[in-house]
Parts: sequence; C-alpha cells; structure tokens
Amino acid sequence: MDPTPQVPDYVRWVVDTLEQAGYETWTVGGAVRNTLLGIPPGDWDLATRATPQVVQGLFPRTVPVGVDHGTVGVLTRQGVLLEVTTFRKDIETTGRHAVVEFADTLQEDLARRDFTVNAVAWHPIRREYSDPFSGREDLKEKVLRTVGTPEDRFSEDYLRVLRALRFSGRFKLRIDDPTWAALCACTDHLDQLSPERIREELLKVLTEDLTPSETLALYEESGVLGALYPELSAVSGCRRSGRDEDLWEHSLRLVDQLSSRRPILRLAALLHGVGIAGSPDPAKRSDSEDPAGDREEERRARARERAAAALIRGRYSNQEIREVSEIIGIGLEPPLDLPDAPVLRGWLHRADPVRFRDFGRIWLAKARLDADRFGSDPGPVLDLIRRFRREIRAGHPLELGDLALNGRDLISLGLKPGPAFGEILGSLMARVLEDPGLNTKARLKALVELPEGTRGERE
Ligand code: ATP
Ligand code: MG
Repeated sequence: MDPTPQVPDYVRWVVDTLEQAGYETWTVGGAVRNTLLGIPPGDWDLATRATPQVVQGLFPRTVPVGVDHGTVGVLTRQGVLLEVTTFRKDIETTGRHAVVEFADTLQEDLARRDFTVNAVAWHPIRREYSDPFSGREDLKEKVLRTVGTPEDRFSEDYLRVLRALRFSGRFKLRIDDPTWAALCACTDHLDQLSPERIREELLKVLTEDLTPSETLALYEESGVLGALYPELSAVSGCRRSGRDEDLWEHSLRLVDQLSSRRPILRLAALLHGVGIAGSPDPAKRSDSEDPAGDREEERRARARERAAAALIRGRYSNQEIREVSEIIGIGLEPPLDLPDAPVLRGWLHRADPVRFRDFGRIWLAKARLDADRFGSDPGPVLDLIRRFRREIRAGHPLELGDLALNGRDLISLGLKPGPAFGEILGSLMARVLEDPGLNTKARLKALVELPEGTRGERE
C-alpha cells in the first residue's frame, strides 16, 4: 500500500475551486515524491488544465510568478503562495532549457518531467495516483531513472544531469545504469548551462542535504566535477601524508560535519584544498597540514585565489566570495600554538573578530571528525575556543575602529594625511593588541610623537 499524501486544506481548496470550475487539477512533483518516501513534503505544486488567465480569474489574490511558463502563484488565506502551473509539453529544447507549450492532458505534462520519481501525480479529491512511468515502483526500489530515453532527456536540458546527482545523493537512490551512462557521457556539454543555474544547484546540495558528500562524490565519479570545478577535481586523489584518506575525501567529510544552515562554511570547507593540488612542484602536493611556514602560507594564498576565481566564475555574490576567501586565506586549522593573550588578540585582529564564530564552528567540526576517525582528543580545541571567547568577552580593542585615536587625531597632531596614516595606525594597533592598557588618547598620542624610525627599537 502506498502512503496517502496528507494534503493541507489550503491546497485542497485550490484544487477544489479549479475542479468545480471544470478544470482537472493534480498535485505533482517533490511533495508527492517526498510523501512516498515518508519525509516532509516541502512545497506543494499543482498542475492544472486551466490556463494562467483562468487561474488568475478564479482566485482573488494571485501573483504572476511565471505566467509565460504557465505558472501563477495563488495566495491562500493562510498566506501561503501556492504555485499552480498549466499542463505543459516540450516543443523545442536547446540543452539550456526547454521551450514549452500548454498541453491538454496530465499524461503529457508528466512525460516532460525529468525523472520517474518526480512524475507521480496525486489527486487529493479523487484520492488517486496517476503514475504512468512507474515512479512509485522506482521509489520502492530506490532507483532514479529518467522519464523516457536518458540521452534525449539530458540533451534537452543539461541541468537534469546535476538534478539527477542531487536527487540520488539526497534520497539515496541508485542511478539506473542507462541513466548513469547517458549522464556521464554528456558532462562536456554542461558549459552550456548558465553559471547561475549551476550555482543554485550546488547551493541546494549544500543547504538541503544533511550529508552533501554523497552528491558531491557523485559529482566526482561522473566527471561533472572535472567539467564544472576543475580546481576541485585536481584535489581528489591528492594524498595527505600519514593519513589514508585523500584531501578530497577529507573535505567532503568536513562539509558533512558542518551545519546545512551554514552553506558558506560548507563551501569554504569544500574549496579549502584547492591551493595544494595542481601545483607543478610535487613536493608541495604532499600534505595539507604542513607545519606553519612559508610553504603553508603560500598554499593558503593560492587556495584563496583559486577559490575566489571559482566563485567569481560561478557568479556568487561579493559577500559570499569575501567570506569564503577570508576563511580559506586564514586556514581551517585551529591555531593551537598561540602562546598567550596578546598573540590570541593578534589572531582575532587578522581574522576579524566577527568571523570568530565561523572559525569556531569549523574547528569544532574538525575536532569531531578527528576524534571519530583517529581517536584524537578534542580537548585542546575546546580549550582554544574557550580562550578566544574569554578574550572577546573582555572587550579589549581588536580592530582599528576600537582604537582611542583616529585619523582626525593624527591631523590635529599636525601630521599630513596620506598613506603613512595607515602605517601609523597599524603600528598603534599592534601596540594596543600587545597591551590594551595603552588604548587612551593621551598614551597613543605620546606613541605617535616618537620620531620616525625609533618606534621599533623602543618596544
Ligand atoms: P525539490 O524542490 O525538493 O528540490 P522538486 O522535485 O520539487 O524537488 P523542483 O525543482 O521544485 O523539484 O521542480 C518541481 C518538479 O518540476 C519536479 O519534481 C519535476 O517534476 C519538474 N522539473 C523541475 N525541473 C525540471 C527540469 N529541469 N526538467 C524536467 N522537469 C523538471
Ligand atoms: Mg520543489
């Protein structure tokens, strides 16, 4: 027996209204699929024989979500925006997207959907399924396959390649052999997709999946990673000395450990290894956890640069790019070797104290991973986080803006504005990080008045 979808009243109301007016209407897609999988339905989508104009005429409050594509948003009394889409059929496809036309039957509409598991419809009033492609059977068998010939369906819209990997990873569906073969064979065409669609797919994986590693591993296995993210593809297979997992696997495990509510941290974890791989010098490929030193710093700078380039290419927002680069530039390793409070404050100054929470999350995730895998003691990391918290709570000056002296004060001291200002404030900052007690206008002024060149010797 298949489970009966529990369709909310507001959905039933919309279906009822359309049916009363003589237009066949069904629930389809993700919500029906999820019900059959026994997981929360998510958004309910409706497919109807009514044209968008008819739908707009029947309901008091509608939003033209995508009328050209047949979608009208119906605002229910509960304040939910329900997407109602006119039955469609594909008339022309380009690989980037399908050109559609309205259709007369549900059957035609289901035939243009991507996978059998997404092509099951449920009628909440007649209480019956329409499942011409045996999606329910495939869900029971945990198989993902295209509706119709895989080669054709992927070449109509290559986004389906990424969708297949996402649905397979998320719902633990095995991709049927012909579907898998067709998908792997068309990775060369993925560059036809807009960067925005590719980005949204990855962000969905990172925000909706408890364990994105499964989909990401399929990205790698299918060749999608190499086609879309060559810098990441170079990471896979890059072995870390002394540990029997490669950097790619390590990155995936770390992504899983981080919360799905922090997609940007997950993105940083995913990308953090890109500095090591692809280096022409094999000596630099050996270990992502080199002891501190030039090599490690170079690697991080390179990772930061390559990650930023990948995100710019993917049309991520400036803020997303900034956050990821900042994290990768500083590195994901907890700085366990910070001897005292001044050095700790120096670290916070460089990392930006507001970002500290993110670093704490990453260090905790890493500590949990290492505890699970190598039995290592998370104690030192927990201690470190406590020390940082204490330092932040103490409210000592950590940023230039916290200094008791600013550019205007320097001018009032008779100094000429210019690049030297940054240098002066920077060196005052360094002194204050060392000794927060110096942070009064009078004391800082006294420090500024030191003649050029003697500042360093006086420390
Ligand atoms: P989720 O929203 O949980 O990611 P979903 O199945 O609801 O999963 P949507 O992207 O919301 O996915 O699309 C709704 C439905 O529209 C799908 O179930 C599928 O039937 C159809 N669909 C969406 N995108 C495509 C596509 N590129 N090609 C063919 N059918 C598609
Ligand atoms: Mg959906």
